[in-house]
Amino acid sequence: MAATLADLLEKTEAYLPTEKAARVEEAYRFAEQAHDGQVRKSGSPYIQHPLEVALLLAEIRLDSHTIIGALLHDVLEDCPVAPGDLEQRFGLDVLKLVEGVTKLTKLEDQTTQTDLGSWDGGKAPLLHAASLRKMLVAMAEDVRVILIKLADRLHNMRTIRALPPRKRLVISRETLDVYAPLSNRLGIGNFGWQLEDLAFRCLHQEEYREISRLLAASRSHRETFIHQVVQTLRKETRVARIKADISGRPKHFYSIYQKMQRYAAQGRDFHKIYDLFGFRVLVDDIADCYSVLGTVHSLWRPIPGEFDDYIANPRENMYQSLHTVVMGPGSQPFEVQIRTSRMHEVAEYGVAAHFRYKEGGHGGDHRFDEQMSWMRQLLEWNQDEPGTEQFIESVKTDIFPDQVFVYTPKGQVRELPMGATPIDFAYRIHTELGHGCRGAKINGKLVALDSPLRNGDTVEILVSKTEKGPSLDWLNADLGFVKTANARDKIRAWFRRRARAENIAQGRVLLEKELRRLHIGIADEGVAALLGYDSTDDLLTALGSGATSTLQLAPKLLADTVPAPPLEAPPDTGALPAVMVNGMPNMLTRLGQCCHPLAGDPIVGFVTRARGVTVHRESCRSLHHLTEAERRIAVSWGVPTRPYPAKVAIEAWDRLGLLRDITTVLSSENVNIAAVRSTHHKRGTVVELLTVETSGATQLSRILSRLEQVKAVIRVTRTG
Ligand code: MN
Repeated sequence: MAATLADLLEKTEAYLPTEKAARVEEAYRFAEQAHDGQVRKSGSPYIQHPLEVALLLAEIRLDSHTIIGALLHDVLEDCPVAPGDLEQRFGLDVLKLVEGVTKLTKLEDQTTQTDLGSWDGGKAPLLHAASLRKMLVAMAEDVRVILIKLADRLHNMRTIRALPPRKRLVISRETLDVYAPLSNRLGIGNFGWQLEDLAFRCLHQEEYREISRLLAASRSHRETFIHQVVQTLRKETRVARIKADISGRPKHFYSIYQKMQRYAAQGRDFHKIYDLFGFRVLVDDIADCYSVLGTVHSLWRPIPGEFDDYIANPRENMYQSLHTVVMGPGSQPFEVQIRTSRMHEVAEYGVAAHFRYKEGGHGGDHRFDEQMSWMRQLLEWNQDEPGTEQFIESVKTDIFPDQVFVYTPKGQVRELPMGATPIDFAYRIHTELGHGCRGAKINGKLVALDSPLRNGDTVEILVSKTEKGPSLDWLNADLGFVKTANARDKIRAWFRRRARAENIAQGRVLLEKELRRLHIGIADEGVAALLGYDSTDDLLTALGSGATSTLQLAPKLLADTVPAPPLEAPPDTGALPAVMVNGMPNMLTRLGQCCHPLAGDPIVGFVTRARGVTVHRESCRSLHHLTEAERRIAVSWGVPTRPYPAKVAIEAWDRLGLLRDITTVLSSENVNIAAVRSTHHKRGTVVELLTVETSGATQLSRILSRLEQVKAVIRVTRTG
């Protein structure tokens, strides 16, 4: 049924002051007149389109200028209306919004038309990236332009059937590649999933139908199931005296599809995806979120690895919620999302949620402003950048958040995967630059070569004039120098090409160093045999060319050689292992102050209102006073991690901050230092004797080689 002006006014009058709602009506009349006689491809009067767009935005309660802008968004483009007219009647703010949208629309038309000729049906066509850029530029000026554009796209997707098939595909592809991720990035989940499902339906008709069948096959079963779970949750939250708004529905098609893809990639059977249902519980405060989680987990068994606490760790777009998947009645898994009403608002409306507060005088949200200013900065830095395509790629990667992009000293953008280091960057620029890399500056400051790069960093590579060639350490994944496969391949190739004699020589240095560090006395032939190499030279070549690393050898060497004392676990220190709640680690727990449970005691958990789960002894008296049985939850002691101690001697030139740098390495490895003793020697050297509690031989070997890289350290040896 077609929407009417009355629908829009009803929505806007609910939250806008009367005089502003009146301006909305005026804008509608203006647009109606301007579009008079125009018809959409679907056959309906043109005014229907801006009206629907305005309605979508009124549903998320945006300010009056945005609603008016939405009503007028096509009048400059399609009607004999002058910008001056708009400004005079509706003000400069509205005019700017309409002009912003018009700019984007023009661009969009260009791209869809150009693409029709060359589009191969697969990847996103080239020009789409350019349109994305324009969108971002516009957003940097005013995010409301983007909100109108997203609503515009959403309505166009809803009516896409009126277009010829080929055009439908191009527009759907663009929607899925650019607009849906943008909605999600801005946190407007409410637009995001609709755009995804509509585009998915066009692009993957087969899969869409399949999911549709999957869901339809069991419609009545599904409804019973949802009803049953909702009722149970209602009852249990009522008993716990928690005010909760509970709903359930099948998941969105595209999210089911993505899960199918993931399953397929892992070689799992996608017919085994059962959690087609999602339930949502909205409560008043954070304490209630965790209480409800406890309730859910006590009702149904949680599926390991499916719990996410986005309340403690919000997503970048400010999304907060608890997610868990549990095994429901009839072995039917389902997902439950638990959050407060405020979090829900952010989840549905994202940036828009923050925006609409402005009219109410709440002021901007700090993190939101931060995000916007970041985008703005990004765009300013790059306005003269000639490599538009590359730039877009890098912006796009920010929307797909597993990428970072950084700048060369000349201001060119380079895109790298998240976690990439200066070495990755160097290899990305040029192979020789990678090989020669000896140091790096980020934003003008010297940094370690394993520092992860962050968005917007300017990276300068320092090259050695005398030394040539990469370091074997770079190939050691545990040391984290290199993240990209590209860089790793180039480093490997370099070592492969190097003369065998050189590899053998370097292998010998490495092996001797490792044997000395680990304090193992054994002939080379013995080592080769022990490690399964035909000859010493083969072993040394493998080491020297990076085909294997000392880190891989250390556990074997330590386990099988006699002279060195084996690493032994100490007697149980009584340190408390983590508590698992219903089989899940990492839940917020604390030990009861009333009964002080010790590892091994029979224990039981109690879901508190404010602070997660409290763990009591089963025999605890205070537990008997806690009458609400439904808030009890099964807990167990996790597997204790017993540290392996090793004595280490570090010989170094004495310098200020030496011990600090050593402990930084150790704490980054998360190991305890049980004892430290320093002995000063003549000629300015010092020997630090430490006992470190490692998790085993591999970590020990890694720590030894990392310690040897600390400035002024001469050698590091395991002494016992
Ligand atoms: Mn439009």
